[in-house]
Amino acid sequence: MNEFINDDFLLQGERARKLYHEHSANMPIIDYHCHLNPVHIATDRRFDNLGQLWLEGDHYKWRAMRANGINEKYCTGKKTTDREKFEKWAETVPYTMRNPVYAWTHLELKRVFGISKILNPSTAAEIYEEATALLQRPEYSARGLMKKFKVEVVCTTDDPVDSLEHHLALRDEGFEIKVLPAWRPDKAMAVEDPEKFRNYILELSAASDIAISSFETLLEALRKRHQFFADAGCRLSDHGIEHFHADDYTKKEIGEIFKRVNSGRNLTWDEISKFKSAMLYELALMDFEKGWTQQFHYGAIRNNNSRLFRKLGPDTGFDSIGDFPVAKTLSRFLDSLDNDGKLAKTILYNLNPSDNEMIATMAGNFQDGTAPGKVQFGSGWWFLDQETGITNQLNSLSLLGLLSRFVGMLTDSRSFVSYPRHEYFRRILCNMLGDDVEKGKIPASEIDFLGRMTEDISYNNAKNFFGF
Ligand SMILES: [Zn+2]
Repeated sequence: MNEFINDDFLLQGERARKLYHEHSANMPIIDYHCHLNPVHIATDRRFDNLGQLWLEGDHYKWRAMRANGINEKYCTGKKTTDREKFEKWAETVPYTMRNPVYAWTHLELKRVFGISKILNPSTAAEIYEEATALLQRPEYSARGLMKKFKVEVVCTTDDPVDSLEHHLALRDEGFEIKVLPAWRPDKAMAVEDPEKFRNYILELSAASDIAISSFETLLEALRKRHQFFADAGCRLSDHGIEHFHADDYTKKEIGEIFKRVNSGRNLTWDEISKFKSAMLYELALMDFEKGWTQQFHYGAIRNNNSRLFRKLGPDTGFDSIGDFPVAKTLSRFLDSLDNDGKLAKTILYNLNPSDNEMIATMAGNFQDGTAPGKVQFGSGWWFLDQETGITNQLNSLSLLGLLSRFVGMLTDSRSFVSYPRHEYFRRILCNMLGDDVEKGKIPASEIDFLGRMTEDISYNNAKNFFGF
């Protein structure tokens, strides 16, 4: 019987196998958006055991365990051991069939550790011991794992106040993988909570050495930090937003709104939206001036379970897909920048798959011939980076834009063993294109061009687009 994760996993025809094995599989990885902790790379973190490696911060696994009736103490508990958590995960895995974590778990076992066994309670102990023994070897450190997967560039996610000390140390040391910061100024827009915002303004004042007392000085401080990020090699910004804001506003209004929130007073929804509109616009200008790419991850409704949010905090597995109306404000936002001749390269990631066609066509409105695929429909994100989500994103992009110019996959992960998700994506891509050839939708004579196209989407397009 064939192994589950065999050479032809997800590849159903001769052409799909050729495209994957002869082209896409050979390309290095550019992981242009992730949430790795740079200190773990700088210090070359070692992992004690498979339980720690897999369950320390993985809210995908925690959600599956909770849905399987596993007690919270085995997900986020401080008193349970890594081994106990792993055993509960192993017990859950057979119940996750058809959920992407089932495929990812076995892809990671195979590609990281060379383990072909299927994880379940009867194999749990031997898999735990075998993987844990391998983790003691130097090539299984954070850096070792990055090298193993031929990673060339990673972009982490960093706040404007971050010192970037670990990025700078890695650069000075000459570490062969580029570990670059990415600019994520969400807190500078979060005026819903005046108390938190004011504290953030103090941090930003300290980091920039600029006394922030007005909207103008806030922008000045952000511009100084933006330059600092650029000097550290940053080429991308990223915004985590529920939806876009593109209200009309005057500088005077924004100045007054800033003063109000910075004195601790609550703002109205109108004022919040005006402030966010101004901020998104000004931040977009900074990105344009530096030649960066701006990314927008929108559409998540976060911290839905307030009881568990109070207990466990954010990013613990209680976020889901929202249904915000976006097309009109997004159009206005992009149009105002385009009108001023200041629209940076842009990637739009929607979390609600019902927005796929809207985003694919919206991107087309602002292609201006200055760069191939200047406005990108981003890869299937978060709940959508599974076979159906990836396939649907690739289909919408193909049908309404140019798949060939797509900058491709990213892990968006906190883990050093998520790189097989690039393989997972590449196999789906190659299978889709190979299948089109088998069915006569693409001429078989163009197989070499298709091969290069899979190489481009896997690697070359990202390399050329971002200019690292
Ligand atoms: Zn992210």
